[in-house]
Amino acid sequence: MSDNTTYSAPGLKVVSLGSRGRGVVAERNFKQGEVIAIWRGSIITEREVIALSDSERSQLLQVDEDAFLVTNKALLTVDYINHSCEPNCGFTDSTTLVAMREIATGEAITFDYAMSDTKTIFAFDCWCGSAKCRKKISGNDWRLADLQERYAGWFAPHVARLIKQSQL
Ligand SMILES: [Zn+2]
Repeated sequence: MSDNTTYSAPGLKVVSLGSRGRGVVAERNFKQGEVIAIWRGSIITEREVIALSDSERSQLLQVDEDAFLVTNKALLTVDYINHSCEPNCGFTDSTTLVAMREIATGEAITFDYAMSDTKTIFAFDCWCGSAKCRKKISGNDWRLADLQERYAGWFAPHVARLIKQSQL
């Protein structure tokens, strides 16, 4: 895959979250199913990911069992979309994020990293503030029955495949 153009839907804005970095909010209403982001970049392997710094790692999107999308370009709006344990977006393929439900102006745009991450190197503490917050996020969260149920149809394909295999 060539490192060409990532798509950011119009009507998204990067905002400062103080000590917690930056995030993305909706500047307009989004309909359920509307495309929020289509990420493009270069693919690297887990071995290459391990060699990256923490901040470089935070920009990755896992797109397959041993494939991670990385960009060499300046970060775009959608590169600042954060994790939430109660998200409003999900995947329709490995690099396309869409609104799981209607999103109102002013809402933070989020997805649950469990929808794409299956590696322990992605573990982090969560302060998303949702009532469903898991506090500790790990690459094994896709195994949680509650998430499998809530995000059915919204996991990235490589994660959906793992879930299916684990249920055999
Ligand atoms: Zn959380």
